[in-house]
Amino acid sequence: MFQPEIETLSREALVKVQLEGMRRTLARVKTNPAYHARLGRVNPHDISSPKDWERLPFLTKEELRDAYPFGLACAPREEFLRLHMSSGTTGNPILNPYTRGDIAQWGEVMARCYRAATVTARDIIQITPSFGLFTGGFGFHYGAERLGAMVIPIGAGRTILQLKLMKDLQATVLTAIATYPLRLIEVAREEKFDLGDLRLRVALLGSEMWSDPLRAVIERELRLKTFDIVGMTETGGPGMGIDCEARAGIHLWEDHFYAEIVEPASGQVVPDGTEGELVISTLTREGLPLVRYRTHDLTRAVSRERCDCGRTHLRIDRLRGRTDDMVVFKGVNFYPRQVEQLILQHEGVSHEYQLQLDRGEGGDRMTLLVEVRPEFHAEEGERLRRKLRDLLGLSPEMRFVKEGEIPRPVGKAVRVVDQRSKV
Ligand code: ZN
Repeated sequence: MFQPEIETLSREALVKVQLEGMRRTLARVKTNPAYHARLGRVNPHDISSPKDWERLPFLTKEELRDAYPFGLACAPREEFLRLHMSSGTTGNPILNPYTRGDIAQWGEVMARCYRAATVTARDIIQITPSFGLFTGGFGFHYGAERLGAMVIPIGAGRTILQLKLMKDLQATVLTAIATYPLRLIEVAREEKFDLGDLRLRVALLGSEMWSDPLRAVIERELRLKTFDIVGMTETGGPGMGIDCEARAGIHLWEDHFYAEIVEPASGQVVPDGTEGELVISTLTREGLPLVRYRTHDLTRAVSRERCDCGRTHLRIDRLRGRTDDMVVFKGVNFYPRQVEQLILQHEGVSHEYQLQLDRGEGGDRMTLLVEVRPEFHAEEGERLRRKLRDLLGLSPEMRFVKEGEIPRPVGKAVRVVDQRSKV
Protein backbone atom coordinates (compact mmCIF):
# COMPACT_ATOMS: atom_id res chain seq x y z
CA MET A 1 0.00 0.00 0.00
CA PHE A 2 1.09 3.56 -0.57
CA GLN A 3 -0.37 4.89 2.70
CA PRO A 4 -1.23 1.83 4.79
CA GLU A 5 -2.16 3.87 7.87
CA ILE A 6 -4.88 5.66 5.90
CA GLU A 7 -5.91 2.85 3.57
CA THR A 8 -6.69 0.55 6.49
CA LEU A 9 -8.46 3.02 8.82
CA SER A 10 -11.35 1.58 10.81
CA ARG A 11 -14.87 2.47 9.72
CA GLU A 12 -15.32 4.75 12.76
CA ALA A 13 -12.09 6.58 12.01
CA LEU A 14 -13.06 6.97 8.36
CA VAL A 15 -16.42 8.50 9.26
CA LYS A 16 -14.62 10.97 11.51
CA VAL A 17 -12.18 11.90 8.76
CA GLN A 18 -15.09 12.35 6.38
CA LEU A 19 -16.97 14.65 8.73
CA GLU A 20 -13.89 16.83 9.06
CA GLY A 21 -13.61 16.85 5.27
CA MET A 22 -17.24 17.85 4.86
CA ARG A 23 -16.79 20.76 7.24
CA ARG A 24 -13.58 21.81 5.54
CA THR A 25 -15.33 21.70 2.17
CA LEU A 26 -18.23 23.82 3.45
CA ALA A 27 -15.81 26.36 4.91
CA ARG A 28 -14.27 26.62 1.48
CA VAL A 29 -17.62 26.91 -0.28
CA LYS A 30 -18.45 29.80 2.06
CA THR A 31 -15.75 31.83 0.33
CA ASN A 32 -17.87 31.80 -2.85
CA PRO A 33 -21.15 33.63 -2.03
CA ALA A 34 -23.02 32.20 -5.05
CA TYR A 35 -22.03 28.61 -4.23
CA HIS A 36 -22.79 29.16 -0.54
CA ALA A 37 -26.22 30.57 -1.36
CA ARG A 38 -27.18 27.56 -3.44
CA LEU A 39 -26.47 25.37 -0.38
CA GLY A 40 -28.87 27.46 1.69
CA ARG A 41 -25.94 29.15 3.48
CA VAL A 42 -25.26 26.02 5.48
CA ASN A 43 -22.37 26.36 7.92
CA PRO A 44 -19.66 23.81 8.68
CA HIS A 45 -20.87 23.26 12.27
CA ASP A 46 -24.38 22.43 10.96
CA ILE A 47 -22.99 19.08 9.81
CA SER A 48 -22.64 16.58 12.62
CA SER A 49 -23.20 13.33 10.70
CA PRO A 50 -23.35 12.08 7.11
CA LYS A 51 -27.15 12.14 7.49
CA ASP A 52 -26.98 15.94 7.68
CA TRP A 53 -25.06 15.90 4.43
CA GLU A 54 -27.96 14.17 2.66
CA ARG A 55 -30.11 17.24 3.22
CA LEU A 56 -27.92 19.39 0.99
CA PRO A 57 -29.04 19.94 -2.62
CA PHE A 58 -27.45 18.02 -5.48
CA LEU A 59 -24.98 19.65 -7.80
CA THR A 60 -25.60 18.86 -11.47
CA LYS A 61 -23.51 18.75 -14.62
CA GLU A 62 -25.62 21.58 -16.04
CA GLU A 63 -24.76 23.80 -13.07
CA LEU A 64 -21.06 23.15 -13.58
CA ARG A 65 -21.44 24.03 -17.27
CA ASP A 66 -23.39 27.17 -16.45
CA ALA A 67 -20.68 28.16 -13.97
CA TYR A 68 -18.10 28.27 -16.79
CA PRO A 69 -15.39 29.38 -16.44
CA PHE A 70 -14.96 29.99 -12.67
CA GLY A 71 -18.45 30.61 -11.27
CA LEU A 72 -18.23 27.89 -8.62
CA ALA A 73 -14.49 28.04 -8.01
CA CYS A 74 -13.55 28.37 -4.33
CA ALA A 75 -9.95 29.57 -4.38
CA PRO A 76 -8.50 32.94 -5.38
CA ARG A 77 -7.52 33.08 -9.04
CA GLU A 78 -3.82 33.52 -8.23
CA GLU A 79 -3.80 30.14 -6.49
CA PHE A 80 -4.81 28.29 -9.67
CA LEU A 81 -1.84 26.51 -11.16
CA ARG A 82 -3.57 24.60 -13.93
CA LEU A 83 -6.93 23.67 -15.27
CA HIS A 84 -8.46 20.65 -16.85
CA MET A 85 -11.60 20.45 -18.84
CA SER A 86 -14.17 17.96 -19.97
CA SER A 87 -15.96 18.79 -23.14
CA GLY A 88 -19.49 17.64 -23.54
CA THR A 89 -21.41 17.54 -26.78
CA THR A 90 -23.58 20.49 -25.79
CA GLY A 91 -23.05 23.83 -24.09
CA ASN A 92 -20.01 25.05 -22.21
CA PRO A 93 -17.25 22.68 -21.15
CA ILE A 94 -16.79 21.85 -17.47
CA LEU A 95 -13.65 23.52 -16.18
CA ASN A 96 -11.80 22.37 -13.08
CA PRO A 97 -9.12 24.73 -11.72
CA TYR A 98 -6.37 23.05 -9.68
CA THR A 99 -4.52 24.64 -6.81
CA ARG A 100 -1.13 23.42 -5.62
CA GLY A 101 -2.99 21.40 -2.99
CA ASP A 102 -5.22 19.82 -5.65
CA ILE A 103 -2.25 18.68 -7.70
CA ALA A 104 -0.64 17.17 -4.61
CA GLN A 105 -3.92 15.45 -3.72
CA TRP A 106 -4.14 14.06 -7.24
CA GLY A 107 -0.62 12.66 -7.09
CA GLU A 108 -1.39 11.03 -3.75
CA VAL A 109 -4.57 9.23 -4.82
CA MET A 110 -2.96 8.19 -8.11
CA ALA A 111 0.03 6.76 -6.26
CA ARG A 112 -2.36 4.76 -4.07
CA CYS A 113 -4.04 3.46 -7.23
CA TYR A 114 -0.73 2.38 -8.71
CA ARG A 115 0.16 0.52 -5.52
CA ALA A 116 -3.25 -1.17 -5.44
CA ALA A 117 -2.43 -2.36 -8.96
CA THR A 118 0.88 -3.79 -7.63
CA VAL A 119 2.99 -1.11 -9.35
CA THR A 120 6.22 -0.07 -7.61
CA ALA A 121 9.11 2.35 -8.14
CA ARG A 122 10.85 -0.38 -10.16
CA ASP A 123 8.19 -0.37 -12.86
CA ILE A 124 8.32 1.43 -16.20
CA ILE A 125 5.02 3.08 -16.95
CA GLN A 126 3.84 3.95 -20.44
CA ILE A 127 1.24 6.70 -20.37
CA THR A 128 -1.02 6.55 -23.42
CA PRO A 129 -3.88 8.97 -22.58
CA SER A 130 -3.32 12.51 -23.86
CA PHE A 131 -1.52 15.20 -21.88
CA GLY A 132 -3.60 18.32 -22.12
CA LEU A 133 -6.98 19.50 -21.00
CA PHE A 134 -8.07 15.87 -20.63
CA THR A 135 -7.11 14.63 -17.16
CA GLY A 136 -5.74 11.21 -18.11
CA GLY A 137 -2.11 11.87 -19.03
CA PHE A 138 -1.18 14.20 -16.18
CA GLY A 139 -2.94 12.13 -13.54
CA PHE A 140 -0.96 9.00 -14.39
CA HIS A 141 2.15 11.15 -14.56
CA TYR A 142 1.78 12.75 -11.10
CA GLY A 143 1.03 9.39 -9.52
CA ALA A 144 4.10 7.84 -11.12
CA GLU A 145 6.28 10.68 -9.86
CA ARG A 146 4.97 10.24 -6.32
CA LEU A 147 5.80 6.57 -6.61
CA GLY A 148 9.21 7.23 -8.11
CA ALA A 149 8.65 5.03 -11.15
CA MET A 150 9.97 5.85 -14.59
CA VAL A 151 7.40 7.10 -17.09
CA ILE A 152 7.26 7.05 -20.86
CA PRO A 153 5.00 10.08 -21.41
CA ILE A 154 4.05 9.39 -25.01
CA GLY A 155 0.42 10.48 -24.79
CA ALA A 156 -2.37 9.56 -27.18
CA GLY A 157 -2.14 8.03 -30.65
CA ARG A 158 0.90 6.90 -32.66
CA THR A 159 0.11 3.28 -31.97
CA ILE A 160 3.04 1.83 -33.93
CA LEU A 161 5.46 4.00 -31.96
CA GLN A 162 3.67 2.99 -28.75
CA LEU A 163 4.36 -0.67 -29.49
CA LYS A 164 7.96 0.01 -30.44
CA LEU A 165 8.71 1.98 -27.25
CA MET A 166 6.88 -0.52 -25.09
CA LYS A 167 9.10 -3.23 -26.43
CA ASP A 168 12.43 -1.38 -26.67
CA LEU A 169 12.13 0.35 -23.28
CA GLN A 170 10.60 -2.74 -21.66
CA ALA A 171 7.55 -1.02 -20.25
CA THR A 172 5.91 -3.09 -17.53
CA VAL A 173 2.80 -0.97 -16.93
CA LEU A 174 0.29 0.33 -19.45
CA THR A 175 -2.05 3.18 -18.55
CA ALA A 176 -4.86 3.86 -21.00
CA ILE A 177 -8.43 4.68 -21.83
CA ALA A 178 -10.17 1.32 -21.44
CA THR A 179 -10.60 0.45 -25.12
CA TYR A 180 -7.15 1.60 -26.25
CA PRO A 181 -5.56 -1.82 -25.62
CA LEU A 182 -7.88 -3.13 -28.34
CA ARG A 183 -6.27 -0.71 -30.76
CA LEU A 184 -2.83 -1.91 -29.67
CA ILE A 185 -3.87 -5.50 -30.29
CA GLU A 186 -5.27 -4.65 -33.72
CA VAL A 187 -2.26 -2.68 -34.87
CA ALA A 188 0.08 -5.39 -33.60
CA ARG A 189 -1.81 -7.88 -35.76
CA GLU A 190 -1.67 -5.61 -38.82
CA GLU A 191 2.03 -4.90 -38.35
CA LYS A 192 2.90 -8.52 -37.54
CA PHE A 193 4.25 -7.26 -34.23
CA ASP A 194 4.70 -10.08 -31.73
CA LEU A 195 2.93 -9.11 -28.50
CA GLY A 196 4.96 -11.84 -26.83
CA ASP A 197 7.96 -9.52 -27.05
CA LEU A 198 6.39 -7.11 -24.54
CA ARG A 199 7.17 -7.05 -20.82
CA LEU A 200 3.82 -5.53 -19.81
CA ARG A 201 2.43 -7.13 -16.66
CA VAL A 202 -0.19 -4.63 -15.51
CA ALA A 203 -2.63 -2.19 -17.12
CA LEU A 204 -4.55 0.58 -15.38
CA LEU A 205 -7.59 1.29 -17.54
CA GLY A 206 -10.52 3.64 -17.17
CA SER A 207 -12.50 6.59 -18.46
CA GLU A 208 -14.93 4.36 -20.36
CA MET A 209 -17.33 1.55 -19.59
CA TRP A 210 -15.69 -1.79 -20.30
CA SER A 211 -17.43 -5.07 -19.65
CA ASP A 212 -15.97 -8.14 -17.94
CA PRO A 213 -15.75 -10.07 -21.26
CA LEU A 214 -13.84 -7.17 -22.81
CA ARG A 215 -11.54 -7.21 -19.82
CA ALA A 216 -10.91 -10.92 -20.42
CA VAL A 217 -10.00 -10.25 -24.08
CA ILE A 218 -7.48 -7.55 -23.11
CA GLU A 219 -5.90 -9.70 -20.39
CA ARG A 220 -5.60 -12.73 -22.66
CA GLU A 221 -4.22 -10.94 -25.71
CA LEU A 222 -1.78 -8.66 -23.89
CA ARG A 223 -0.93 -11.24 -21.19
CA LEU A 224 -1.31 -8.85 -18.29
CA LYS A 225 -3.57 -8.09 -15.36
CA THR A 226 -5.93 -5.14 -15.67
CA PHE A 227 -7.13 -2.77 -12.96
CA ASP A 228 -10.21 -0.60 -13.30
CA ILE A 229 -9.51 2.99 -12.27
CA VAL A 230 -12.31 5.54 -11.78
CA GLY A 231 -12.56 9.31 -11.59
CA MET A 232 -13.58 12.17 -13.86
CA THR A 233 -12.59 15.75 -14.60
CA GLU A 234 -15.11 17.08 -12.09
CA THR A 235 -13.70 14.98 -9.23
CA GLY A 236 -10.14 15.93 -10.14
CA GLY A 237 -9.41 13.28 -12.78
CA PRO A 238 -8.64 9.57 -12.54
CA GLY A 239 -7.63 8.31 -9.11
CA MET A 240 -10.87 8.51 -7.17
CA GLY A 241 -10.59 4.75 -6.77
CA ILE A 242 -9.45 1.46 -8.29
CA ASP A 243 -10.01 -2.22 -7.88
CA CYS A 244 -7.34 -4.26 -6.12
CA GLU A 245 -5.84 -7.71 -6.58
CA ALA A 246 -8.79 -9.27 -4.75
CA ARG A 247 -10.97 -7.99 -7.60
CA ALA A 248 -13.88 -7.61 -5.22
CA GLY A 249 -15.02 -4.12 -6.09
CA ILE A 250 -13.47 -0.72 -6.67
CA HIS A 251 -12.05 0.94 -3.55
CA LEU A 252 -13.01 4.61 -3.34
CA TRP A 253 -10.54 6.68 -1.33
CA GLU A 254 -12.95 7.74 1.36
CA ASP A 255 -10.69 10.23 3.10
CA HIS A 256 -10.83 12.29 -0.12
CA PHE A 257 -14.28 11.47 -1.49
CA TYR A 258 -17.69 10.87 0.05
CA ALA A 259 -19.88 8.60 -2.04
CA GLU A 260 -23.62 8.14 -1.99
CA ILE A 261 -25.71 5.93 -4.26
CA VAL A 262 -29.11 7.38 -5.05
CA GLU A 263 -32.19 6.33 -6.93
CA PRO A 264 -31.84 8.42 -10.13
CA ALA A 265 -35.47 9.56 -10.36
CA SER A 266 -36.17 10.42 -6.70
CA GLY A 267 -32.66 11.24 -5.53
CA GLN A 268 -33.23 9.09 -2.43
CA VAL A 269 -30.16 7.33 -1.03
CA VAL A 270 -30.53 3.57 -1.61
CA PRO A 271 -29.30 0.80 0.71
CA ASP A 272 -25.92 -0.85 0.07
CA GLY A 273 -26.17 -3.48 -2.63
CA THR A 274 -28.88 -1.65 -4.57
CA GLU A 275 -27.93 -0.18 -7.90
CA GLY A 276 -28.25 3.56 -8.38
CA GLU A 277 -26.46 6.70 -9.46
CA LEU A 278 -23.15 7.55 -7.88
CA VAL A 279 -23.13 10.93 -6.12
CA ILE A 280 -19.70 12.27 -5.15
CA SER A 281 -18.65 14.95 -2.70
CA THR A 282 -15.01 15.93 -2.56
CA LEU A 283 -13.53 16.31 0.92
CA THR A 284 -10.08 17.71 0.12
CA ARG A 285 -10.38 19.52 -3.21
CA GLU A 286 -9.78 23.27 -3.17
CA GLY A 287 -10.28 24.81 -6.62
CA LEU A 288 -13.66 23.25 -7.34
CA PRO A 289 -15.01 21.38 -4.31
CA LEU A 290 -18.02 19.24 -5.16
CA VAL A 291 -21.00 18.95 -2.83
CA ARG A 292 -23.26 16.02 -3.78
CA TYR A 293 -22.37 15.93 -7.45
CA ARG A 294 -24.60 13.76 -9.66
CA THR A 295 -22.09 11.80 -11.76
CA HIS A 296 -24.68 9.94 -13.90
CA ASP A 297 -22.63 6.77 -13.35
CA LEU A 298 -24.53 3.67 -12.28
CA THR A 299 -23.09 1.35 -9.66
CA ARG A 300 -23.83 -0.04 -6.21
CA ALA A 301 -22.05 -0.13 -2.89
CA VAL A 302 -20.52 -3.61 -2.55
CA SER A 303 -18.97 -3.54 0.92
CA ARG A 304 -17.73 -1.33 3.74
CA GLU A 305 -15.91 -4.21 5.40
CA ARG A 306 -12.19 -4.88 5.26
CA CYS A 307 -11.22 -6.34 1.88
CA ASP A 308 -8.93 -9.37 1.42
CA CYS A 309 -6.25 -6.87 0.40
CA GLY A 310 -6.46 -5.26 3.85
CA ARG A 311 -7.98 -1.98 2.70
CA THR A 312 -11.08 -0.77 4.47
CA HIS A 313 -12.28 1.92 2.08
CA LEU A 314 -15.72 1.50 0.53
CA ARG A 315 -15.95 -0.83 -2.43
CA ILE A 316 -18.35 -0.11 -5.25
CA ASP A 317 -19.22 -2.24 -8.24
CA ARG A 318 -17.56 -1.61 -11.59
CA LEU A 319 -19.52 1.14 -13.29
CA ARG A 320 -22.39 -0.46 -15.18
CA GLY A 321 -23.35 2.41 -17.43
CA ARG A 322 -24.31 6.03 -17.32
CA THR A 323 -27.81 7.27 -16.83
CA ASP A 324 -27.32 9.32 -20.00
CA ASP A 325 -25.89 6.37 -21.99
CA MET A 326 -29.07 4.44 -21.53
CA VAL A 327 -30.63 3.64 -24.87
CA VAL A 328 -34.39 3.94 -24.99
CA PHE A 329 -35.75 2.29 -28.09
CA LYS A 330 -39.43 1.58 -28.63
CA GLY A 331 -40.03 1.72 -24.90
CA VAL A 332 -37.19 -0.69 -24.06
CA ASN A 333 -34.31 0.57 -21.88
CA PHE A 334 -30.85 -0.97 -22.03
CA TYR A 335 -27.15 -0.11 -21.82
CA PRO A 336 -24.58 -0.65 -24.59
CA ARG A 337 -22.52 -2.71 -22.17
CA GLN A 338 -25.26 -5.35 -21.98
CA VAL A 339 -25.05 -5.75 -25.75
CA GLU A 340 -21.26 -5.86 -25.58
CA GLN A 341 -21.29 -8.65 -23.00
CA LEU A 342 -23.51 -10.70 -25.24
CA ILE A 343 -21.57 -10.10 -28.46
CA LEU A 344 -18.26 -11.09 -26.90
CA GLN A 345 -19.59 -14.52 -25.95
CA HIS A 346 -19.73 -15.49 -29.61
CA GLU A 347 -17.09 -17.13 -31.78
CA GLY A 348 -15.45 -15.20 -34.56
CA VAL A 349 -16.62 -11.74 -33.58
CA SER A 350 -14.21 -8.89 -32.95
CA HIS A 351 -14.63 -6.52 -29.99
CA GLU A 352 -15.91 -3.68 -32.13
CA TYR A 353 -19.59 -2.95 -32.48
CA GLN A 354 -21.87 0.00 -32.89
CA LEU A 355 -25.57 0.59 -32.36
CA GLN A 356 -27.07 2.92 -34.92
CA LEU A 357 -30.45 4.45 -34.30
CA ASP A 358 -32.33 6.44 -36.86
CA ARG A 359 -35.77 7.38 -37.97
CA GLY A 360 -37.18 6.16 -41.27
CA GLU A 361 -40.56 6.12 -42.96
CA GLY A 362 -41.64 3.06 -40.98
CA GLY A 363 -40.64 4.61 -37.64
CA ASP A 364 -37.52 4.25 -35.50
CA ARG A 365 -34.90 1.76 -36.59
CA MET A 366 -32.04 0.17 -34.73
CA THR A 367 -29.11 -1.47 -36.50
CA LEU A 368 -26.36 -3.34 -34.73
CA LEU A 369 -23.06 -3.38 -36.58
CA VAL A 370 -20.70 -6.11 -35.45
CA GLU A 371 -17.23 -6.70 -36.82
CA VAL A 372 -16.50 -10.34 -37.55
CA ARG A 373 -13.46 -12.35 -38.56
CA PRO A 374 -13.27 -14.61 -41.65
CA GLU A 375 -14.01 -17.70 -39.54
CA PHE A 376 -17.38 -16.30 -38.43
CA HIS A 377 -20.29 -18.63 -39.32
CA ALA A 378 -23.78 -17.68 -40.35
CA GLU A 379 -25.20 -19.98 -37.62
CA GLU A 380 -23.25 -18.04 -35.01
CA GLY A 381 -24.93 -14.92 -36.37
CA GLU A 382 -28.32 -16.54 -35.92
CA ARG A 383 -27.46 -17.54 -32.36
CA LEU A 384 -26.43 -13.96 -31.61
CA ARG A 385 -29.65 -12.64 -33.13
CA ARG A 386 -31.74 -14.97 -30.93
CA LYS A 387 -29.83 -14.08 -27.76
CA LEU A 388 -30.24 -10.41 -28.49
CA ARG A 389 -33.96 -10.86 -28.90
CA ASP A 390 -34.10 -12.70 -25.57
CA LEU A 391 -32.09 -9.94 -23.87
CA LEU A 392 -33.87 -6.90 -25.25
CA GLY A 393 -37.18 -8.17 -26.50
CA LEU A 394 -36.23 -6.40 -29.71
CA SER A 395 -34.91 -7.65 -33.03
CA PRO A 396 -32.55 -5.01 -34.33
CA GLU A 397 -31.32 -5.33 -37.84
CA MET A 398 -27.84 -6.86 -37.73
CA ARG A 399 -25.01 -6.12 -40.07
CA PHE A 400 -21.85 -8.17 -39.91
CA VAL A 401 -18.94 -6.21 -41.29
CA LYS A 402 -15.24 -6.95 -41.79
CA GLU A 403 -12.77 -6.20 -39.01
CA GLY A 404 -11.65 -2.58 -39.24
CA GLU A 405 -14.79 -1.24 -40.91
CA ILE A 406 -16.17 0.59 -37.89
CA PRO A 407 -14.17 3.83 -37.54
CA ARG A 408 -11.74 4.00 -34.57
CA PRO A 409 -11.87 7.42 -32.93
CA VAL A 410 -8.72 8.73 -31.26
CA GLY A 411 -10.36 9.07 -27.84
CA LYS A 412 -13.24 7.09 -26.39
CA ALA A 413 -15.05 4.44 -28.41
CA VAL A 414 -18.37 5.41 -29.97
CA ARG A 415 -20.84 2.63 -29.22
CA VAL A 416 -24.11 4.40 -29.99
CA VAL A 417 -24.88 6.70 -32.88
CA ASP A 418 -28.33 8.14 -32.37
CA GLN A 419 -29.66 10.08 -35.34
CA ARG A 420 -33.33 9.88 -34.38
CA SER A 421 -33.69 13.50 -33.36
CA LYS A 422 -31.89 14.72 -36.47
CA VAL A 423 -34.52 13.48 -38.92
ZN1 ZN B 1 -9.15 -4.66 -1.88
